[in-house]
Amino acid sequence: MLKKELSIFTFADLLELFPNRHIDKTKVNKIREIGPQTDFIQVAGTLVSYEMVGSGRGKRLVAQLRDSSGMLELAWFQGINWVIKGLHVGSDYLVFGKTGFFNGKPQIVHPEIEVFVPANADGKNFLEPVYPSTEKLKARSLNGRQIGKLTFALLSQIKPHDIVENIPQYLLDKLKLMNRYDAYCNIHFPTSTELYEQAMKRLKFEELFIAQVRLNLVRLQRHKVSRGVVFEKVGEYFNTLYSKYLPFELTGVQKRVIKEIRTDTGRGHQMNRLLQGDVGSGKTIVALLSMLLAADNGYQSCLMAPTEILAQQHFTGLSELLKEMPVEIALLTGSTKTKERKRILQGLIDDTIHMVVGTHAVIEDVVQFKSLGLVIVDEQHRFGVAQRAKLWEKAVVPPHVLVMTATPIPRTLAMTAYGDLDYSVMDELPPGRQPITTVHRYETARGKVMDFVRSEIDKGRQAYFIYPLIEESEKMSYEDLMQGYEQVKSFFPEPKWRISMVHGRQPAEQKETNMQRFVSGDTQIMVSTTVIEVGVNVPNASVMVIESSEKFGLSQLHQLRGRVGRGKEKSFCILLTAASASKDARERIKILCATNDGFVIAEKDLELRGPGDIEGTRQSGALNFKIAIIVNDKDILEVARNEAEKLVDEDVELSLAKNLPLKSFLHSQKSRNGWGKIS
Ligand code: ADP
Ligand code: MG
Repeated sequence: MLKKELSIFTFADLLELFPNRHIDKTKVNKIREIGPQTDFIQVAGTLVSYEMVGSGRGKRLVAQLRDSSGMLELAWFQGINWVIKGLHVGSDYLVFGKTGFFNGKPQIVHPEIEVFVPANADGKNFLEPVYPSTEKLKARSLNGRQIGKLTFALLSQIKPHDIVENIPQYLLDKLKLMNRYDAYCNIHFPTSTELYEQAMKRLKFEELFIAQVRLNLVRLQRHKVSRGVVFEKVGEYFNTLYSKYLPFELTGVQKRVIKEIRTDTGRGHQMNRLLQGDVGSGKTIVALLSMLLAADNGYQSCLMAPTEILAQQHFTGLSELLKEMPVEIALLTGSTKTKERKRILQGLIDDTIHMVVGTHAVIEDVVQFKSLGLVIVDEQHRFGVAQRAKLWEKAVVPPHVLVMTATPIPRTLAMTAYGDLDYSVMDELPPGRQPITTVHRYETARGKVMDFVRSEIDKGRQAYFIYPLIEESEKMSYEDLMQGYEQVKSFFPEPKWRISMVHGRQPAEQKETNMQRFVSGDTQIMVSTTVIEVGVNVPNASVMVIESSEKFGLSQLHQLRGRVGRGKEKSFCILLTAASASKDARERIKILCATNDGFVIAEKDLELRGPGDIEGTRQSGALNFKIAIIVNDKDILEVARNEAEKLVDEDVELSLAKNLPLKSFLHSQKSRNGWGKIS
C-alpha cells in the first residue's frame, strides 16, 4: 500500500517523505480573527453539527465548528463519505485551511481536520509533522499521523553516521549549513521553527547542489572528454553567403552567437548548445551559417522543425538564400513522395546532399548519413528527449547539436532543465522593428475590431485570426474554427477579400497551398488554429486577432503574437475574450498588453503556473524536486549552481580528498536513478 500510493520502498524513502507542514499546537487562532485578508488559519473548536446540503454538483457536506469566539463553517464537496466517518458532534477538532466567506460567514472548504490533542505539557516537540497521505491510505487508516509515527521510530533507531554527509565539509562551513543527520531529524521533528528552517535550507541546498553537480559534470566531461567532429576552418560556402548573399547586416548578437558556435565546434569536443532567442530575433540565419560551416568542413547537417509548415518554410527560405551557390539542400517530411524520398535517402548516403531540412521524418531509422556533423533542432520544445537521443545513433562520433528555442525559458529553469547544455541568448532584435501594440477587447467589440482590421488591410497589410486548439476535443476546436471562418468571411466577403485557412485536419498539401497563398500575399487573411504558432514568417502581416484568448497560456500567446511585428510596419495584436474571462486570464492578458519581452513573460508565466507546465521543460523530469521549489528557491539555486560549477571546474574527477563525500554519494545514487544525457 505504501509502495503504490506514495512510492515508498526503503527506509531512506520514508525519511525523504518530508512533512508538508508542521502543526504548531501553540499557535491556534480564534475564529473571530478571520477577516477578508486572512489566508490560511488554524483553529480549534467543538463540532456543533453537520449535514448534507444542495444537490447535483453543488451537493456538499457542511459542518459547524464553534470556539469561544464564534462559529466557522466547514464544507466538503468530495470524499464526503470518508470525512463523515471521522466527524462526531461534540468532539474537539483542530482545523487548518484557507479561509473564505460564503453568504457573509467565514468558511473553510476542504479543511485539514483532525481530533484535537492539546500540546505536550513539557512543551517539547510542539511542532508536529503533517505528512502527505492519499485518500486511499487514509481509508486504511494509515494517515499522516501514522506515517509520522513510523518516521519517528525510524529516526530514533538510527545514528548520525547512518545518514552519511554528502556535501563537502568546507562548503557546509562556508555556507553555514546544518549537517545532514541533524537536517533529517529537524525536518521531521524540529524543536523550534528556527531549526526547522535551517533543516529546510540545508536539504533544499543539498537537492539543488547535487543536481547541479551532476549537470555540470555532464557538461564538463563533454568539454574535456567526449569526442566531437572538428569544424576547423571557415571556408568557401560560409564566406560566399556571408559576403555576397546575406540580405542584411548581421546584428551584434547574431555575430556573437556564430562565433560561439565556431569556437565550440572547432575544439574537437561535441557541442551541445541551447540557443534562446525571442521570436523574430533572427535565429534562422544563425542556423544556416552554422550549416555552411559544417559543409565547409566536409560534413552534412540537418535542420529539424516541429511541423511540416515550418520545415517547408525553412526549406523555401534557405533555398532562396542558397540559390546561387553550389549547395545541395533537400526537404524531407512525412509527405515527401516515395520517389523523391528515395532520391534524398540515396543522396544522404552518397554525400551528394549537403543539408536536409525536415520534420521528425529526418530521424527515422531509415535515414542514414554519410557524414552527419551538425544537427539543428528548431523550436525545440516540440521534440522529446527520446527523439533527440536518436540522433546519437546516426554517426560514429556524435554530431554537434544546436537546439534553438523561441520560448524563452526563465534562467532558473534553464539552469535546472538544461544545465548540462551550453547556452547562448539572443536578446537583441534586428534593427527597425517597432514594438507590437497589444490590446484587450471583449467579444462585444468585434464589429470595431473588424473595422480596424479592414483599415489595416486597406493599407496593403495582412491579418491573422487565431482560434484555440482545445486539446481534449479536436472536434470542438474544428467546429469553433469553422464558425470563426464563416464569421470572418461575413465581414470580409469574397472576391474583394481572400482568406486562407489552415488547421491540423487538413492534408499537408492543402495546408501548404493555403500557407503559400498567404505568404505570397494572394490572400490577405489567414484563419487558423495554433498550428501557425511557431516560426511562420510573413513580414507584411501587421494585425493578429486572437479569439478566446483566455483559453491560451501566457507563453503561447506571446509565441502567437510573434507572427506579427516582423516587418517595418507598426503591428497590432488584439486579444479577444468573453466578458466572463476569469481573473487569472485577465491577469495574463494584462501582462501581455504591458510587455513584449519574452523573458519577462516567461518569468511571469513561471510564477503564475509553476514549473510543471512551462513549455519545453515538461518532459525533462529534471524539475521534480522533493523539497526545493525553484520558483521560490531562486537564491538557493543560484548559490548551488555557483558552488557546483566551481567544484566541478576544479575537480572534474571528484578525486580531491575534500570532495570524496560527494563522490561516494553520487556513486551510491547511480543505481537509484538513471541520469541520462538530455540530448
Ligand atoms: P526567429 O528567431 O524567430 O526564428 P527569424 O530567423 O525567422 O526569427 O527572423 C525573423 C525575421 O528577421 C526574418 O524576416 C529575417 O529575415 C529577419 N532578420 C534576421 N536577421 C536580421 C538582421 N540581422 N537584420 C535584419 N533582418 C533580419
Ligand atoms: Mg524561427
